[in-house]
Amino acid sequence: MARYDVAVIGGGPGGYTAAIRAAQAGAGVCVVEMDKVGGTCLNRGCIPTKALLSCTGVLAQIKRAEEFGIKVGEVTTSWKQMLERKDRVVDKLVTGVEFLFKSYAIDLINGKATLFDKNTIEVETSNGGDNELTASHIILATGSRPAYIPAFDIDGKQVITSNEALDLAELPESLIIVGGGVIGCEFACIFSEMGVKITIIEALDRILNTEDRQISQRMRGVLRKRGITIHTNAKITQIKKTAEQVTAVLESGEEISAQQAMVSIGRALNTQGLGLKKVGIKQGARGEILVNERMQTNIENIYAIGDVVGKLMLAHVAARQGMVAAGNIMGTHEVMDYRVVPGAIFTHPELASVGLTADKAKENGYEVNLGNFSFMALGKALAMGEAEGTIRLVADAASDKLLGAQIMGPHATDLIAEVALAINKGLTAKDVAQTIHAHPTLAEAVFEAAEDVHGMAIHVAKKKGH
Ligand code: FAD
Repeated sequence: MARYDVAVIGGGPGGYTAAIRAAQAGAGVCVVEMDKVGGTCLNRGCIPTKALLSCTGVLAQIKRAEEFGIKVGEVTTSWKQMLERKDRVVDKLVTGVEFLFKSYAIDLINGKATLFDKNTIEVETSNGGDNELTASHIILATGSRPAYIPAFDIDGKQVITSNEALDLAELPESLIIVGGGVIGCEFACIFSEMGVKITIIEALDRILNTEDRQISQRMRGVLRKRGITIHTNAKITQIKKTAEQVTAVLESGEEISAQQAMVSIGRALNTQGLGLKKVGIKQGARGEILVNERMQTNIENIYAIGDVVGKLMLAHVAARQGMVAAGNIMGTHEVMDYRVVPGAIFTHPELASVGLTADKAKENGYEVNLGNFSFMALGKALAMGEAEGTIRLVADAASDKLLGAQIMGPHATDLIAEVALAINKGLTAKDVAQTIHAHPTLAEAVFEAAEDVHGMAIHVAKKKGH
């Protein structure tokens, strides 16, 4: 029987990061993966969606070519070629992770893993064979999958999830997107750019409800301008099907029809068949694996990371949790800190946030100073023709330390990194304002917003009282 210091179950961003970090510290490591390494993120999530968004981003630019003094002839698109490009990007990254495993002598075992006891894993390999391995430490990183709601009768054809949406042989004329969260809104941008008539149906009172209220309202306006219909406070009781169309029946009695529907209302955790009960691993009310701040379960030598622990279901959180778990196994004391986790939404324009919103900061007892800056006043954004959006910095009035940021605008998802670093290191608005930012860049928006915290932004008109 093969023996390892660390066995990781699941090769997504959580699992593969943990495996590499443990191997870097000298452990003998294996990863058991029943599908492809890279998990949801590389194969069915972050990367394929962003590869498709890059295609539709080029299309959006071409549609505006005349604005830039460029005349283009008739524009045709090939969804098939876009999918092929997406697959090439995914393959490159998956192969890259496999290469990293080889370079760190990490054994990749293809098969479905079940815990037999606290040190033994049974692996059902793809050819039906059974293998057993033992490990001093085990990291559970089995991730999540789209949640299936019986009333929606998801069949993978007329009613699909994000998994099938990434490989549609043909684009529908119209699509209902059930759920106006991050995944729903990103797909709405991809498909609407390709000419699909999109209707988003959201049960809550606003789309992107984890974001600042003002920003999510502005995004609603942007999506509407692009021809996307949005229903909020709209609960679907049933999705009816005929051969030609699907019809969402709302609680109000209203019926909305389209050629297909995509359900993106949440994720189910991959804990079934993992042997958790057998080994006595504690789970929470949603089935999530319970862990302490060191990512350790109630069984001392077993850790759990990523979506399956049900905290923030993001690839970069999974990766960080993987580093924390591996670090603790290998003898460095590390704890998971969720205070500074950037969120990135790849709509057009992009949204990004980190730390506290102004409302949340006030709820937490802070008096705040806000710094705002509009991309409309930024040279680089105007030159790019991408001036829609704003940045808001939230600073503690007493100490001037940055508490949070919300950005809507070009490359918001890249710009947020500077503020995340500033908050993480306890920097003040003044620290950011006193840092010279290159001109002309989008990063100057962060600088101007930091100056605006004290009413000193050069490219903002004088305010009353200053
Ligand atoms: P996963 O990536 O789900 O990997 C788990 C792996 O475990 C899988 O490969 C699975 O096959 C394997 N596995 C499960 N059970 C077993 C078993 N018993 N034996 C062996 N192997 C097993 N996050 C972002 O941060 N940014 C984004 O832009 C973003 N976009 C997304 C877009 C979409 C459409 C979706 C669906 C998700 C997106 N996410 C994004 C979320 C992100 O993909 C997840 O948070 C992340 O993949 C979680 O990583 P993980 O390692 O916990 O699990």
